[in-house]
Amino acid sequence: MYDQRDATTGLFRPALVIDGARATAAAELSVINPATGAPVGTCPDIDRAMFDLAVRAARAGADVWKATPMERRREALRLMADRIEANLDSLTAMLTAEQGKPLAAARGEIANTALTIREVADLDLPPEVLQDDETLRIERHRVPLGVVAAIAPWNFPIKLGYWKVAPALLTGNAVILKPSPFTPLTTLAIGELIHDLLPRGVFQTVAGGDAVGPWLTEHPDIDKVSFTGSSATGSRVMASASGSLKRVTLELGGNDAAIVLDDADVETVVPKVFWAAFRNSGQVCIASKRIYVHDSLFDAFRDRFVAMAKSVRVGNGVEDGIELGPIQNKLQFDKVMALVADCKRTGLAVHEGPLDPSASARGYFVPVTVVETPPEESRIVQVEPFGPIVPLLKYSSLDEVIGRVNASDYGLGGSVWTSDPGRGAEVAARIDSGIVWINDAQAINTVTPFGGMKKSGMGVESGIEGLAEYTAGKTIVLRRG
Ligand code: NAD
Repeated sequence: MYDQRDATTGLFRPALVIDGARATAAAELSVINPATGAPVGTCPDIDRAMFDLAVRAARAGADVWKATPMERRREALRLMADRIEANLDSLTAMLTAEQGKPLAAARGEIANTALTIREVADLDLPPEVLQDDETLRIERHRVPLGVVAAIAPWNFPIKLGYWKVAPALLTGNAVILKPSPFTPLTTLAIGELIHDLLPRGVFQTVAGGDAVGPWLTEHPDIDKVSFTGSSATGSRVMASASGSLKRVTLELGGNDAAIVLDDADVETVVPKVFWAAFRNSGQVCIASKRIYVHDSLFDAFRDRFVAMAKSVRVGNGVEDGIELGPIQNKLQFDKVMALVADCKRTGLAVHEGPLDPSASARGYFVPVTVVETPPEESRIVQVEPFGPIVPLLKYSSLDEVIGRVNASDYGLGGSVWTSDPGRGAEVAARIDSGIVWINDAQAINTVTPFGGMKKSGMGVESGIEGLAEYTAGKTIVLRRG
């Protein structure tokens, strides 16, 4: 079993992977366990010379990798998945320690990442024949871009980071992966585990302070940035990438609505909407962040929903029976607490779940919080909370609720809950977002393209469309007559 703990301190100390080898840096950053406030490990703080070496190695690696047969690339991805699975226990412990999510959720994230890598290995992007007759044969090919920078956030560090790495590698690119400085450990550990499955320079990890992201987006020898994070940072990434005309995929924030139609079965729907709102302590881009319930069902829905909030167990994710962990970092904790305070100060009806005071004295814990019928223009409805707080809103007509839902600057996802799939489809068609689920939420498999409209981003990940984002189109025209 692979373990990067320092023998004396017990702290996790994974290394970077640069130019085919493990690399440590002169400086280190401390990583905090959000459930205890205590240091859990250190992460190398890369310096500019090491960073430039990584980009040079990636350029050389990209040339080797694009000439490598597809079957060999597929095989490398399958072996990566095997290595991750073989180390599931130690990686799970590390992810819970740095991210805060309960052990079962951490295990699920890593296992699902391995599965996704294996499924991506089977995807195909064959050339398309656009015309084939006595005068012309026109083929459209997809070719690798070169060097891809993958920039990941802290809420699902493994899934969202390696979700980029797998399709970028399959399509023949070299990849440099940068985790968030809040959650670098497990990402780097996986890098150490898998890098020798690929030629030198083809997959590398970089990590450190706030300078590293801009180094990636500015560097002229990087061809594409695939970024997941907030809309504010996304806009900086796009501005910076424009200097060298890099391609960008931006997976950004959201303020997804769940619309509960008047024919929904409350008993069935409440638990599903509840977990769509609170999974990962609400730190999910596609969490249900505004819940619109038809007024004929509202009271029954609220009673059942608030009862669930009162029974959820929030605490340190290593303990048995804990369903939700802390907010991942102090910055985000302060933002969520400010939002809770704003709701209370403005006199809104706030229902809070239980919280063990001894846990909250140590970590960044927020109780599950339900805000009843706040005004549409209130902050809790308009901003993305990214924490375990959600507004329950009433509506009376479909036109009215769709107008309210689409008034958002975001357009990431959304859901419709109904006993009539036909009605669900009609409502889904009217929601301005990149994905809408009917009687489900957050489910994305390997064939599902995922990406936002409006300020939720541009481009997609996942599916064949997501694979194509790591390629350039190239047309070959043969004149026959
Ligand atoms: P963030 O934007 O603060 O950071 C994301 C990543 O970008 C981190 O690795 C960070 O170090 C890096 N970064 C920061 N400044 C940078 C810069 N100037 N140039 C390049 N990189 C830079 O986001 P976060 O707080 O880590 O994540 C939360 C946000 O991410 C939420 O808004 C959430 O909705 C969004 N998100 C979106 C998706 C999606 O798929 N659409 C998924 C998860 C999270």
